[in-house]
Amino acid sequence: MKIAVFGLGYVGLVTATSLSEVGHQVIGYDADTDKLESLRNSEVPFYEPGLADLVSKNIDQGNLHFVDHIDWAIADSDVIFIAVGTPPKEDGSADLKSLYQVVESLGQMLERSITIVVKSTVPVGTNQAIDRALNALLESRGLQVSCDVVSNPEFLREGNALHDVFNPDRIVIGATSRQAFDTMRRLYAPFHFTCPLLEMEPASAELSKYAANAFLASRISFMNELSRLAETVGADINQVSTALGTDPRIGHHFLHAGIGYGGSCFPKDILSLRNMFWEHRIESPLTNAIQQVNSEQRHRFAKTIIEHLADAIDNSTIALWGLTFKPNTDDMRDAPSLEISQLLQKAGANVRLYDPVLNSAIKDRFPTDSQLEFVDDMYEAVHGADALVLVTEWTTFAEPDFTKVMQLMRTPNVFDGRNFWDPDFVRSQGFTYYGVGRPEIR
Ligand code: NAD
Repeated sequence: MKIAVFGLGYVGLVTATSLSEVGHQVIGYDADTDKLESLRNSEVPFYEPGLADLVSKNIDQGNLHFVDHIDWAIADSDVIFIAVGTPPKEDGSADLKSLYQVVESLGQMLERSITIVVKSTVPVGTNQAIDRALNALLESRGLQVSCDVVSNPEFLREGNALHDVFNPDRIVIGATSRQAFDTMRRLYAPFHFTCPLLEMEPASAELSKYAANAFLASRISFMNELSRLAETVGADINQVSTALGTDPRIGHHFLHAGIGYGGSCFPKDILSLRNMFWEHRIESPLTNAIQQVNSEQRHRFAKTIIEHLADAIDNSTIALWGLTFKPNTDDMRDAPSLEISQLLQKAGANVRLYDPVLNSAIKDRFPTDSQLEFVDDMYEAVHGADALVLVTEWTTFAEPDFTKVMQLMRTPNVFDGRNFWDPDFVRSQGFTYYGVGRPEIR
């Protein structure tokens, strides 16, 4: 099939590339001309494992093209994907400006009936609103055409995006006509998915995406809230998590206590879901609590560090390992490292920052400040430091040379924001160890 993808960020580029990989002819369009220029040179402007090679391969094979003219993108397309960002507005609702820019352009340029697939995460009712707006624009041009608008929310995880698009757990398709469902089935047929393709109303598809993210985030917040009690009563939240997750009705996923979730999806989607409850005047104490616990968690963690260092915090050096919101990505949207480093700085510390992917996209998210220093080596970060703070659990940090760390640090304090390390082992190396929801001394 001939497909156009509008918006070439984490979701759009992975979608475009996977569709081209299975043999579709794909044209990508993005409003950001620098991004298009990089992509035409087979350079992926963000970090996603394996993606650059697959982009390059499909460009070379002639299945994947990038254009900077909307009309070129839509000229021959059977299906158009919209994967533009839907960031939160100040009031927490989703900003649909980019999405409607695309709809407006399509309404002005389309000449025939095609299928429009909305991959972006959008509030319930948006697909229906797009359907009306687009078809009204086409009608106003005197065209006898009608486009199907399909909701096809994306569930990929950054850092595992390629694995996820080729091995999804389910494909959710929200449409209002048999023809649209059949088009989507033909589109996905070459992937030979073994997972279910779930057909439903667009509203159910839209809500499914929010439900999935909010549910996963609620598990994290539940464990984080529980970790506060664990800390006080001398329980180890990691052991509790293992006991809990072993129950097949519960399972182990998303039961890790730590400094909470970040990223471009959970925080914004929970705000957007909360906003939907508000709009419909339905109380949602749960949705509120997920977000509240998460934001408190970062502050509590920073406070633990600050209180432990006490007066010595002033002019101390604190090393942060891992800056991205999770491992295997360079995405810094709502990354806990931003807030934690700011809180430590405010308390008087000099903060040394290290991440395995220390590119300009990461560095640019931090303010220019003499109290902040980026270093290219994880051990350089701890040189003369008074505290080592693990913020993001990249595998590089799984088994550091603690003997070397001990020799380099001025004061051997370890704050493990992800409960990544074995407290007994770290303590046996001479460090003072603090995790989240773990007893101070066993
Ligand atoms: P992103 O910010 O990485 O990419 C969005 C892209 O859209 C950018 O390249 C931007 O330049 C482009 N764009 C903006 N306006 C445009 C326009 N008018 N025409 C063409 N391109 C335009 O965003 P993302 O992380 O890929 O997320 C996209 C959508 O997918 C969001 O709704 C998000 O909630 C959802 N989603 C994201 C993830 C994830 O892990 N990132 C997972 C599932 C769903």
